[in-house]
Amino acid sequence: MHHFQYRNGTLHAEEIGVPELAEKYGTPLYVYSAATLRRHFQAFDSAFNGLKHMTCYSVKANSNLSVLRLLAEMGAGMDIVSGGELYRALKAGVPASKIVYSGVGKKAQEIREALEADILMFNVESMAELERINKVAKSMGKVARVGFRINPDVDPKTHPYISTGMKKNKFGLDIEHSLKAYQRAKEMDAVEPVGMDCHIGSQLTTIEPFLEALDKLIAFYNRLKDMGISISYLDLGGGLGITYNEEEPPHPAEFGKALSEKLQELPLTVIFEPGRVISGNAGIMVTEVVYTKKTPSRDFVIVDAAMNDLIRPSLYDSYHRIAEVQQNGRDELTVDVVGPICESGDFLARDREMPAVHEGELLAVFSAGAYGFTMSSNYNSRRRACELLVDGDTVTVARARESYEDLVRGE
Ligand SMILES: *Cc1c(COP(=O)(O)O)cnc(C)c1O
Repeated sequence: MHHFQYRNGTLHAEEIGVPELAEKYGTPLYVYSAATLRRHFQAFDSAFNGLKHMTCYSVKANSNLSVLRLLAEMGAGMDIVSGGELYRALKAGVPASKIVYSGVGKKAQEIREALEADILMFNVESMAELERINKVAKSMGKVARVGFRINPDVDPKTHPYISTGMKKNKFGLDIEHSLKAYQRAKEMDAVEPVGMDCHIGSQLTTIEPFLEALDKLIAFYNRLKDMGISISYLDLGGGLGITYNEEEPPHPAEFGKALSEKLQELPLTVIFEPGRVISGNAGIMVTEVVYTKKTPSRDFVIVDAAMNDLIRPSLYDSYHRIAEVQQNGRDELTVDVVGPICESGDFLARDREMPAVHEGELLAVFSAGAYGFTMSSNYNSRRRACELLVDGDTVTVARARESYEDLVRGE
């Protein structure tokens, strides 16, 4: 459920007509709905009400400060993957005690910054990283809380680029290496093993891979206990999918119920790192039709948003629903919706059936609230889009459109 609905044929973001927003702020334009963000966070977090848990929103999905602040106010923690995301999370007012840090390539400087802030824990992804964290913490006279990211070798049945928990992936440690890692960590003086972690992939549409991974983690937890290592946190990562087109992912309540049954008996605080399921359907991207173009083989709709604004269709061949902002009632055509960038891979949709559109009409690209703006770039010297946060009938400019000056800053 989201708060982008049609009223008398015009798309609204909560209480505000989208044409009004496009008129005032220009296109391409990202529009986020505060009510939707709150609703999604609430639905996810309350699915684990019966468990001691923390919901640490995955900053990389949508890291706009206005979005992070809204979630922080609801009590969210954050999952970060860089020093930049740490900076954002702290700036948004997230307590460091609710921040976990994942990622395979943490640099010494980033580790230092996280230790200075005193984050809850590092999800360590290699032996080399463990040594590095120990060294940095020691030099600062601190003890780093760590968990190891375990690669459970489970197929999440999602796009290969966003599968992360299979043997061949770069993420985490396999189970046998993990045992050695905990032993090594126990011997070190500047790290303290406090957790276990896994994140098997993104946009999962069934519960089974999560349950399969959880079973392996619970078995591992018991082996650790036998070795005399007791931990307090079990981080199950993110990855719950959303509906872009016809996917039917489990509702967070169903997900919560299935996992809680297995987790009930464990004396652990469970951490979740949802990203897409919180922000994905809480955002749309609005774009204007610049031209239509008919070639002997295809009908193109050329819009003012491109792969630099929303790369998911080009990168993952992802589907995003696209619809007119003002329903026009025309007959459907099969079109390619493309941007102005000089790449044939620059498209938002291919072979899409939609009502014929004309120059100057607005289109809404749905499900653009996660991995949309955060993956945007300046390719072709295009200025990054404006981001708005709508809350009822209030609009906040969450990020101003970049200027030409912004484009050359630092050059
Ligand atoms: C990307 C990522 C997430 C969030 O994934 P979603 O599919 O957006 O829920 C969580 N944890 C880690 C470690 C990640 O890399």
